[in-house]
Amino acid sequence: MRFYTLICLFLALLFFKCTKKPLNAYKTEHVIIIVIDGSRYSESWGEPTQQFIPHQKNLSAQGVFYSNFYNNGETYTVPGHSAITTGVYENIDNNGTALPGSPSLFQVWRKKYKNPENSAYIIASKDKLEVLDNCTNPFWNNKYQPQTNCGWSGLGSGYRPDSVTASTAINILENNTPNMVLINFRQPDFSAHQNDWNGYISGIQQTDNYINQLWEYIQGSTKYANKTALFITNDHGRHLDSTGGFAYHGDDCEGCRRVSLLAIGPDFNQGVVVDEPHELIDIPTTISKLMHFKFSSGNGKELSELFN
Ligand SMILES: [Zn+2]
Ligand SMILES: [Zn+2]
Repeated sequence: MRFYTLICLFLALLFFKCTKKPLNAYKTEHVIIIVIDGSRYSESWGEPTQQFIPHQKNLSAQGVFYSNFYNNGETYTVPGHSAITTGVYENIDNNGTALPGSPSLFQVWRKKYKNPENSAYIIASKDKLEVLDNCTNPFWNNKYQPQTNCGWSGLGSGYRPDSVTASTAINILENNTPNMVLINFRQPDFSAHQNDWNGYISGIQQTDNYINQLWEYIQGSTKYANKTALFITNDHGRHLDSTGGFAYHGDDCEGCRRVSLLAIGPDFNQGVVVDEPHELIDIPTTISKLMHFKFSSGNGKELSELFN
């Protein structure tokens, strides 16, 4: 009798273990990080009526907006992007001649799940961002890299227009169905460096349109609708008018450091604004939670306000 009871208990436990859903079974299957290169907070979310980003303004009702989000490392393109992909602030070269030192979230995720190369993608208007696909850490160098589509035809080929990046991104999403994607738009940074205020503002408006196109594609696709998390952020801001003005960036002034994050996804809260400060390196740590892998090389914290 006692033996019989023990067997029943064992079988019941086994059944419970097999059928119990993991506590963190998220609906998210795809993660897309969109990086708008170098828009200053004062012309994007900090502009009183947010007139240059109407689509993101609308989208914010469906997600969580972080109003005090910062790049606390080097405020240049490559270090800003590598903070997002590796969770580590590093003073790495900004012209595409040096790799990050730490593995990216793409590499760590691919290793954990043995996913193919084209399940993770870096799609960028700036060719130099191809360096995000690898790192110098000897345990990770040349291993588990994501696929890349950067600039006209990879490192050294030059920047391409964001219109090409937007249509390329939709083609890749449609044909490869990757699970982890980073998309870089070179505007508004590109026009700002030419001291072209109108081009800078229209760059902010154009990227807002491309984000809307991507969002409409996602919502209209059975592959992505209601199972895709979107993180919209920046690599860096630009100098305040009092510290050199919009044409350049690269120091620790509030204009360069302050960026933004809007996150939308099936597992996230809706219509929430978070005023507590958070930073770029928190993005990969949060994605690792969402996609169920450990990311111990990253120094960020989880963006816990996202989760409902
Ligand atoms: Zn720049
Ligand atoms: Zn500055």
